[in-house]
Amino acid sequence: MTRKVKISGLGLAGVVLLACWMLFTDSGRRMQFFIGGAMINLGYGMQDHLASYDFEHEHAISPGDVWKEMQSQNEVASAVRKWFPRTARHPLVAMVVCMDARLDTNELTGDSRHYYYIIRTAGSVLSEREEEMLELAVANGVELILLSTHSDCAAEKVASTPDMRQRYPALARAVDEREARIKEFLARPAVASKIAAGALDVKLVNIDTMTEKILPR
Ligand SMILES: [Zn+2]
Repeated sequence: MTRKVKISGLGLAGVVLLACWMLFTDSGRRMQFFIGGAMINLGYGMQDHLASYDFEHEHAISPGDVWKEMQSQNEVASAVRKWFPRTARHPLVAMVVCMDARLDTNELTGDSRHYYYIIRTAGSVLSEREEEMLELAVANGVELILLSTHSDCAAEKVASTPDMRQRYPALARAVDEREARIKEFLARPAVASKIAAGALDVKLVNIDTMTEKILPR
């Protein structure tokens, strides 16, 4: 009896020590971050293969059916969020990412805390509107901007294929202008002055679509 009490006492002390380590030390907090990421991946693994809940055309499915399924999924997801609200974060990073569905901006860093301003456009192109939005993000405290492209980009294929260019001329033009728009953005006085003062960094990167590894370009 005494032995049992001793063991549970030791177990309890271990749990308390572990909790203190996780909550109050740098390495413990880092471990929490990784465990959170691992649990999200567990969730992806559990949902990924469920064909009955996706929008694949395995059976005749109409746009109305897709909308109904999406609404019912949102019903559950928003109810969960109502009970477990997320902490509001002030982003230090802004990213421009293509609208390609294979790219998940949460997965890029394994961070689900919405720590980033995200602009998603076809082909990661910028127009004057996005340039202004990024400048506003910088004014709101952003210190790092990632301007990304990615492998196997459908918008880039449109721009490099003559008959596709004819069908989607505006998209092709926007991809053609992408680099010039970046130069234009970097030259905006409010942006250029922050870069010169060392208060802002802008990285041009390429994302490997299959692994989501961020590579310099
Ligand atoms: Zn793309």
